Amino acid sequence: MEQKVPITVAFGDGIGPEIMPEVLKILKAANAAIEIETIEIGEKVYNQGVTSGIADSSWESLRRTKVFLKSPITTPQGGGFKSLNVTVRKTLGLYANVRPCVSYYPIIQTKHPKMDVVIVRENEEDLYAGIEHRQTDEAYQSLKLVTQPGTEKIVRYAFEYAKANNRKKVSCFSKDNIMKLTDGLFHKIFDEVGAEYPDIEKDHWIVDIGSARLADTPEIFDVIVTSNLYGDIISDIAAQITGSVGLGGSANIGESCAMFEAIHGSAPMIAGQGIANPSGLLLGAVQMLVHIGQPEVAETVHNAWLKTLEDGIHTPDIYREGVSQKRVSTQEFGDAVAARVGQRPTTLAAVEYDKNRNVCSPVPRLQRRPAGKKEVVGIDVFVHDRSTDKQAFGDKIAALSTDKAKLRLVTNRGVLVWPDGFPETAVVDHWRCRFMATEGTISSADVVELLGKFSQAGVDFVKTEQLCKFDGVVSYSQAQGE
Ligand code: NAD
Repeated sequence: MEQKVPITVAFGDGIGPEIMPEVLKILKAANAAIEIETIEIGEKVYNQGVTSGIADSSWESLRRTKVFLKSPITTPQGGGFKSLNVTVRKTLGLYANVRPCVSYYPIIQTKHPKMDVVIVRENEEDLYAGIEHRQTDEAYQSLKLVTQPGTEKIVRYAFEYAKANNRKKVSCFSKDNIMKLTDGLFHKIFDEVGAEYPDIEKDHWIVDIGSARLADTPEIFDVIVTSNLYGDIISDIAAQITGSVGLGGSANIGESCAMFEAIHGSAPMIAGQGIANPSGLLLGAVQMLVHIGQPEVAETVHNAWLKTLEDGIHTPDIYREGVSQKRVSTQEFGDAVAARVGQRPTTLAAVEYDKNRNVCSPVPRLQRRPAGKKEVVGIDVFVHDRSTDKQAFGDKIAALSTDKAKLRLVTNRGVLVWPDGFPETAVVDHWRCRFMATEGTISSADVVELLGKFSQAGVDFVKTEQLCKFDGVVSYSQAQGE
């Protein structure tokens, strides 16, 4: 008898407690060698005052089993509550979110019969770093953090995934025409790492037109790798256009742990009615079976599910007169899949998993690149001020220049307003004042001296940013009009 693999399971909120038992029933029917440990997460835990939605004792199970099969949960709106999903992904270092989006034509109605796209979404950084501030009366800021190791890990994962799964092409989505440093880094690392995979075709799309083509002509894409926010948005769109968001499963992979779930949320509107489709969570569980080294069971479950679809046994979200045979409840759908264990589809293509390969295996631990030569050549000082006279404001700040740091320009929302701004440019109470070193570089003591003058003059500075060159390369954005 095969050694049972311990896994941690959470039944979640909304439709979660309805879909999870069906998934576990099907795994049991297929003889998955798993040992289940159940933990409580979500609404009940939030309501006990635990703002993360997960109790300390549950981390112990997750860190021990390292495999998490998770139903969707409801994130309470508003004050103080943290998204449990984001917390689990970041705490366990689950850097890759893998979302296959496949059409099941002619069984499931879709405008895109040939769609078979895998979205590999970066899962830990970007705007999801959750570092936000209100800086002035009028300005709010969210920090978009993109790192070189984080990007290299996700891009390499995407190419390794493509290689292991016989995928032909990897497409990168970014917005590097606007965000030249953050998205520019993502694109640059995609090109660098991609060069190590000469057998895989690659291309890059600006995320807006790339998303438009994905929604219109998804068959031109194979694997897409992208950053956190873009990946979040496009994977829901991609799942929806296959026929139903209820069909998408998702793997969150880290160096030591992994979490498997449905793409969709807890769907409270349909909870308690017994009509939710358990397919998304089931396909997440199929990815889990591959990950824990049980590809035979994954194949059995996946094909039993395809056969159920093909036999026209459909939950209401995918039921269609003329094609569907029977409109079934969540539980009846689970029973139907369990009863088809061992069968394969004939109209839809049966799946085959390579029995010798762990297709979800993460990339080896990366070597950090050596640090570069850093020179601080200036400083941006951000100021909270309700002035409307741009020239007078710039003159006031220019008077604070020191021997070491001289005001070069002032921008408002990134647009040059001093010197020689346009009268037409609208301003808010959030100003960026760029001081450049008078003698090549400035020290932190020089910055302290400068800020001392701001303080004495009663100017409310809300933050500073160093202007650096790394290995001689200018590593800050130029102002519009600079
Ligand atoms: P949702 O995905 O829960 O539901 C949107 C709609 O999609 C539902 O009303 C329903 O019509 C349909 N749908 C979703 N899953 C379905 C299924 N299995 N079968 C049939 N129809 C299905 O999105 P939402 O309503 O925006 O979010 C509800 C809650 O879920 C929120 O609290 C949100 O924070 C949370 N959420 C959790 C996760 C997660 O746990 N991974 C992911 C997304 C959203």
